[in-house]
Amino acid sequence: MKNILNDPAKRAEWVYGEPMAPCPQCGSYDMKPQMPIAIDLTGKETTAQLVGKWARATKAGATMLQGPAYYACWECGHKGPAVDCAGRTSEDCCADRALNSEMKRLWNAQTQTEKRIDL
Ligand SMILES: [Zn+2]
Repeated sequence: MKNILNDPAKRAEWVYGEPMAPCPQCGSYDMKPQMPIAIDLTGKETTAQLVGKWARATKAGATMLQGPAYYACWECGHKGPAVDCAGRTSEDCCADRALNSEMKRLWNAQTQTEKRIDL
C-alpha cells in the first residue's frame, strides 16, 4: 500500500476509482471536481458578508449551479472540458454518479488529444 501513496498515478486511480490522466499542462494528478455555485455577489462585500452569502446559498438545501461542472488541476488551475449543468442544483449534481463519470471521461479524453498532437 505504500507504493500507492508514492505514485501519484496510482493514488489518483485509487481516489477516483479508475485510472486518471495527468493534467495536460503540468502533469499533476491533483485534479478536483469543480461545480461553481451561483451566488449573488456584487464584488464589494466584506469578508464577513461573503461568508454570510456563501452560507445562505449553500444552506438552503438546493444550491443552484452557475452551469459548468468540470475537473480542474489544483496545481496550475487548468480546467478540463465542462458538462453543462445549468438549472441543476449542487446537491443534485454531487449525487449524480453518471455526471461524475462524464466529468472524469472528459478530463481523460482531453489529455489523450494532447498526447496525439505530441506524436
Ligand atoms: Zn496542471
